[in-house]
Amino acid sequence: MPSNFFNTLNNTIIAGPCSAESQQQLLSVAKSLKQLGVNIIRAGIWKPRTRPTSFEGVGNIGLQWLKEVKQQLNVMVATEVATPAHCNAALKAGIDILWIGARTTTDPFAVQEIANALKDTNIPILVKNPVIADVALWNGAIERLTACGLNNIAAVHRGFATYHQSTTYRNNPMWRIPIDLKRITNEKIPIFCDPSHISGNSNLVAEVANQAIRLGFNNLMVEVHPNPAEAKSDNNQQLTITQFKQLITNLYTINNNNAKIVPQLLELRDEIDLCDTQLLQILSRRMEIIQKIGELKNITKETVLQFERYDAMLKRRMLEANELNLTPDFIKQVIEIIHEEAVKIQLRENGN
Ligand code: PEP
Ligand code: MN
Repeated sequence: MPSNFFNTLNNTIIAGPCSAESQQQLLSVAKSLKQLGVNIIRAGIWKPRTRPTSFEGVGNIGLQWLKEVKQQLNVMVATEVATPAHCNAALKAGIDILWIGARTTTDPFAVQEIANALKDTNIPILVKNPVIADVALWNGAIERLTACGLNNIAAVHRGFATYHQSTTYRNNPMWRIPIDLKRITNEKIPIFCDPSHISGNSNLVAEVANQAIRLGFNNLMVEVHPNPAEAKSDNNQQLTITQFKQLITNLYTINNNNAKIVPQLLELRDEIDLCDTQLLQILSRRMEIIQKIGELKNITKETVLQFERYDAMLKRRMLEANELNLTPDFIKQVIEIIHEEAVKIQLRENGN
């Protein structure tokens, strides 16, 4: 297995403005960040925006500013690429790390073109999750890069767009998806968290960053701007230097080897395993009953779906859930899945 640059990073924060806006803005924020221990500076210069009237980045001139930051401060610099032309220009300017943005990851043709343009370079590349909640599409983008011999790859979890804006987040974190990516890739691809784009609001960034760390995603990409109120893009979510300092001071620290707690943890996990086995046995019994009901309905020619019974059962389970300290909505989802399977079994029974 070839080594992966991103595996050498642990508890690393890539930070910098959403967009490079001027040489002065970029250099000043990079200097402050470097003083706070940041060694990888990010700044977008080609910005894929939803509407053409939004600020779409300073373009090629920004490469010179990033180069200047790299040389003056002895840091690595990262920027977003979306086309082969961006890739070639960034490579020529000596940009250290490239990232593929959430909008680009949704487009296999664009990702393939990027992969082809970067072939044989082995430049480190961060792959943001696609805006839609599709783990296969995210993994597919990674596969396109690795198939071109690019091994220095990490993923960035930046949350998923929803049509109805959730009240809390700009992009729903749906933690299950980065966790699934970890499983699908056999933990070979390091996963960063970008709490800025998940939050969409500077007040939430620290909370999301700590959630990520507690879930084992210990590398972050965070947007920081010298004066967020004046930022040309993503002004609500960018942190001031003071807020960034607070963030790093209060970051959750993980200690997975606490000798005292390990035996207790193992005991509790045994209990969980037992619960799961019992759950499966009960489910198996439930489905056997379903099968018998199906046979009866087939004899009497009754409909498989009896809506009133289903509706009443669902409501009753949600009330019971409440009494058992279970979230009714969670139990609703569980019952719905079980019911779906039951309907399938009975339809089979009816010869369909
Ligand atoms: C960004 O990092 O500024 C950016 C455009 O992010 P995303 O692609 O996650 O929206
Ligand atoms: Mn941004």
